[in-house]
Amino acid sequence: MPDANLLGTEGKGFVHLMEHLPLERISIAVAAIAAARAAYEWTREYVFERKAFGKPVGDLQNTRFVLAEMLTEIEVTQSHIDRCVLALNAGELTAVDAAKAKWWASELQKRVVDRCVQLHGGYGFMMEYPIGRAFVDSRVQTLYGGTTEVMKEIIGRDIAARPA
Ligand SMILES: Cc1cc2nc3c(=O)[nH]c(=O)nc-3n(C[C@H](O)[C@H](O)[C@H](O)COP(=O)(O)OP(=O)(O)OC[C@H]3O[C@@H](n4cnc5c(N)ncnc54)[C@H](O)[C@@H]3O)c2cc1C
Repeated sequence: MPDANLLGTEGKGFVHLMEHLPLERISIAVAAIAAARAAYEWTREYVFERKAFGKPVGDLQNTRFVLAEMLTEIEVTQSHIDRCVLALNAGELTAVDAAKAKWWASELQKRVVDRCVQLHGGYGFMMEYPIGRAFVDSRVQTLYGGTTEVMKEIIGRDIAARPA
């Protein structure tokens, strides 16, 4: 292979990979919050169309509470991710903050999509509905790019390394 084709520094491939992990992890967090919001929006529309016992399921208090919980959790998480993206753009996003954003947002996506499936009833289990597909897609998010457990290990190591 000609020298001109060398990417980065010879013998430093692993280091280069490590340097880009925060970018990969914040990208997954951004995708996670976008997917959670999309699932929430599909569900919000669905529950006010779907009627059970003569009225939209969106008029049931439980449905509104679940929507309220999801929207609050999405908005709070979105604010944090926006802050991380600004830090990334400024070259200041740490590996630990990227790990926090990745595990939190991907676990939130799973929780939100699961509740959205529940509010869709039986239709939520059908691939014809985007929410059914979103349920399957959400499952990988806490695995690739480093599992939730490994993210917590990175954060935990940093906490343990701090002077008391
Ligand atoms: C669709 C998909 C695409 C992928 N794309 C890529 C890619 O492009 N490039 C790439 O390099 N990799 C890729 N991966 C691999 C992915 O990063 C790994 O699957 C992931 O990091 C988990 O590693 P593992 O599968 O070896 O699981 P394991 O390490 O075997 O983990 C099994 C279980 O043990 C837990 N565990 C492992 N270590 C610890 C620990 N120290 N403390 C606590 N718990 C622990 C895990 O959290 C998990 O629950 C992809 C995976 C998938 C599913």
